[in-house]
Amino acid sequence: MPEVLRHPPKLVTAAIALVTVLALVLIATRDSSSQAASPTPATSVIILSGDGMGIQQRTAIQYALYGLDERQPMDALPYTGFLDTIPAGPIAVTDSAAGATAWAIGEKTINGYTGLGPDKKRVPTLLDIAKQQGKTTALINDHDVTNATLASFGGPVINRDWKSTIAAKEIYNNKVDILMGGNEAYWYPPGNPGKIPNTVPDEDRSEGRQGNLVEKAISQGYQYAYDRDTVAALTGPRVLALVQDSAKRRWVEEKGYKFKKDPHYVPVVDMVKKALDIADDNPNGFFFAMESDDLDSAGHEHDVRNVIQSGRTINQVVKAIQEYRETNPNVLLIVTADHETGGMTIEPMGETNTNSDGDDPIPYWGKKARNNAGPNGEVPKRSGPIKIKGTKDRKFKVDWTTPEHTGGMVPVTAVGPLAEELVGVHHNTHVFDVAKQALTASP
Ligand SMILES: [Zn+2]
Repeated sequence: MPEVLRHPPKLVTAAIALVTVLALVLIATRDSSSQAASPTPATSVIILSGDGMGIQQRTAIQYALYGLDERQPMDALPYTGFLDTIPAGPIAVTDSAAGATAWAIGEKTINGYTGLGPDKKRVPTLLDIAKQQGKTTALINDHDVTNATLASFGGPVINRDWKSTIAAKEIYNNKVDILMGGNEAYWYPPGNPGKIPNTVPDEDRSEGRQGNLVEKAISQGYQYAYDRDTVAALTGPRVLALVQDSAKRRWVEEKGYKFKKDPHYVPVVDMVKKALDIADDNPNGFFFAMESDDLDSAGHEHDVRNVIQSGRTINQVVKAIQEYRETNPNVLLIVTADHETGGMTIEPMGETNTNSDGDDPIPYWGKKARNNAGPNGEVPKRSGPIKIKGTKDRKFKVDWTTPEHTGGMVPVTAVGPLAEELVGVHHNTHVFDVAKQALTASP
């Protein structure tokens, strides 16, 4: 600033002092409006995972749904960083259990363990820590609430497939206040059809191994919901909503199924709004762990159209949370992923596809393979073309390198108290450190 330097030193000092004061006033004004900077005892934390959502998935969702100018809600959050995803043990690529456990307990663990370190010892998860602080706790999913990601917070076990054990732990041991998601099959014993009709014979049959866990939850004081009306009627403080599992994926894969006509389909954003409504009554704040598991399934199935559907859900949820934060800024929101799935890459139209089978080449509810490249590299329909929103005719397609997860870093975006701590490149365990600090803030 040559003009300032030409002034006598005293004036320069005064000018610097004035600028400093103005800057502090500006920072203070900004803090008190939307960006609460320091956590208070009632700070709430929400971790939202797009399971399998690497940087290419986030970009594809941005282009398809928001185009080139309007930034999608999850990427419009003010702080951005990267997280590594490598688990403990000899393997270089994580599963969802080890990925989410890193956030839940701050320790890298063995693939398949949920909420337990490599020594299998039970240590407090973020959900336990939030409970100790008197906060309301919630686990919400578009797939089942006993899934590996959510089990890492509310159902620590050494095998992520012990679904009914996880369900029982969620209601008995860890007393999660709000459980919302799909797949009642793990909550009802064989022979009990539950509340949601099975639309495909031999699929979705009850296979609970812990008796009738819905009845047990009700006897523990949970309100129970299973469709849009009963979810709308929930008042809390403890709720169990078991609704249609992965309704949007099912819509694509199951002939004749229409999620909009299914009363058991409850949009994830409605469940989140209901959970916020219930948790809002607690002056101590809350802790939510949420995921879109369908995004990972779509990656395994090599279906970018379903990846984008899941991205729509995630952005709707971020928007709803941001609206809540307008009057409740003391909420730290972290949006990230446990890993990338499929080695998905955005490519120009005209290139051939090399992808091999997805790990579910025949979709879960479908009858025949349809996501594989043609013999001459023809692009499968579920890999493109995808139109870039707001453009006349710009399109892209995607290709895939693997039916499994990949080991690259994943983006993390955040807003709210301590969100700036996530800027930079960190281990995925850093999510635990920041969230714990926010949850245990003292006056
Ligand atoms: Zn996966």
